Amino acid sequence: MDEPRANPSTGGEVESYHVGTESMSTSGSLADAFSPDPLAGPATVHEPAREIPVHASTDVLVVGGGPAGCAAALAARRAGAEVLLVERYNHLGGLSTGGLVIWIDRMSDWSGRLVIAGFAQEVLARLPDGAVAGAAPELWGSAEAPEVAYWRERQGAFRDVVTWSPMIDPEWLKHLSTEMLIEAGVRLLLHSWVAEPLLAGREVQGVAFESKQGRRAILAKVVVDASGDLDVCARAGLEFEADAKSGGSGIAHCLNTGWIWAGVDFARWLAFKRDDPGGHRQLMQDAGDALGFVERPVVGWRNDVALFLGPRLSGYSGVSVSDLTRVEIESRRRMVAHLDYFRRRAPGFENAWLMLSAAQVGVRHTRRLVGRHKLTSDDWRAGARHADEIGVSPSPSQKFANVSVPYRALVPRDLDNVLVAGRHIACDPQTQAFMREIPQCWLTGQAAGVAAALAVGRAVPTAEVDVAELQQELRRQGVYLQDGGAAPSAPEHAATAPLAR
Ligand SMILES: Cc1cc2nc3c(=O)[nH]c(=O)nc-3n(C[C@H](O)[C@H](O)[C@H](O)COP(=O)(O)OP(=O)(O)OC[C@H]3O[C@@H](n4cnc5c(N)ncnc54)[C@H](O)[C@@H]3O)c2cc1C
Repeated sequence: MDEPRANPSTGGEVESYHVGTESMSTSGSLADAFSPDPLAGPATVHEPAREIPVHASTDVLVVGGGPAGCAAALAARRAGAEVLLVERYNHLGGLSTGGLVIWIDRMSDWSGRLVIAGFAQEVLARLPDGAVAGAAPELWGSAEAPEVAYWRERQGAFRDVVTWSPMIDPEWLKHLSTEMLIEAGVRLLLHSWVAEPLLAGREVQGVAFESKQGRRAILAKVVVDASGDLDVCARAGLEFEADAKSGGSGIAHCLNTGWIWAGVDFARWLAFKRDDPGGHRQLMQDAGDALGFVERPVVGWRNDVALFLGPRLSGYSGVSVSDLTRVEIESRRRMVAHLDYFRRRAPGFENAWLMLSAAQVGVRHTRRLVGRHKLTSDDWRAGARHADEIGVSPSPSQKFANVSVPYRALVPRDLDNVLVAGRHIACDPQTQAFMREIPQCWLTGQAAGVAAALAVGRAVPTAEVDVAELQQELRRQGVYLQDGGAAPSAPEHAATAPLAR
């Protein structure tokens, strides 16, 4: 889970790689994060206007093939629209595959009820045996100490409750996402980077994208911005929120390129942690001294795979290419330094080898939409149930009721035919801390997809989509909504944990 953590760094210098001044705190000042980098030459050059070929046209264009984009594309197609999805990389899944964020956060609530269903339920159920590892449905919501202890070690228990929050194999999720979309009739365009919206007043008539074929256009009736960074809306000139912008809290969320190692005996590592807590503490403290910062391994979808969802680097911006470059370099240096240390010192890691570093840099937050409603912690602390609810998220702690997610948080205030889904919906930072998680991005993606199809079908602005019709179609697609919606049954695959007990 992507939880805030204390800083165990000792800040020591190591000769073998650059530690940097940032360690893993979120205290880095990014006052200049949204300014251009220093330049040696002229500040601008003139790019002449030109005609560009129209590559395709579609009812619904989905920009970005991450969790939100995949769910949006599938949902829009199933709701009857013609759909094209554009993705800059060579695969689908976004951070949940290419970013190695393979730990899918909670979909069950504190009572064990599955509240994030729909696309989330279907995609996890369709992963093959051995590609998903999590607690069996009958354990969800359990507070039994042995079950909690077992699943806590495998990221399947949170705040002393067993949850449905499995680990998945990213290659299978890439493959399955692609096949599910193709099977439904979604058209895919990979290796294509959306550069600019084609703006006409309050409408985005399509986008210009860059590829090996040069700059081309796609025309669309409705655009779903599922880029994670609000690229379409920001490029359209819309106001957005950003924690690192002046006026925000002034922090940048940590960035990192994660990695996974194979050849690990995780059962031995867990036994060491359990049986020799003092030795484990000392080892981690020594690691902090030696490495300047230590990232903790978690067990992957198999006992021989270790996942490192760090190293968290602060003080960088996820929308500065110079910063992104630095984060890639620094993360891989730390990966190599960690490998050397863990192989020498950590029981179970003697034969570990570098399986993969992430193809996509881990970005938690850059920009957030200014929407028709901003989902805030005041909303969910007060247990608000929105009339335009399009999904339900588990709450951050047992103190709060399940979180009602309103449609208006996906609708831009200043554009008529655009919807937003994923980690950049309209919300405050406290809400983004959980609404950015993969299941929640599936949830907002599915809602945006259905709404986009309805907007096309009824020829209305996205803000005027009939909420009752939207909710009806979402229910038809298996989404759990609170008003009269029965909790869906557990995914068939929920008990395929290959981790030996
Ligand atoms: C280090 C880290 C740890 C995390 N831990 C967890 C966790 O344990 N559990 C959990 O559930 N979540 C976790 N999260 C959060 C979660 O991974 C992301 O918030 C979630 O994947 C966001 O989904 P998304 O679809 O909004 O965006 P993304 O996953 O970022 O997908 C966006 C997609 O759009 C594409 N794209 C972007 N711009 C363009 C463009 N201009 N043109 C074409 N394509 C474009 C990208 O290539 C990408 O494929 C973590 C995140 C990070 C960074």
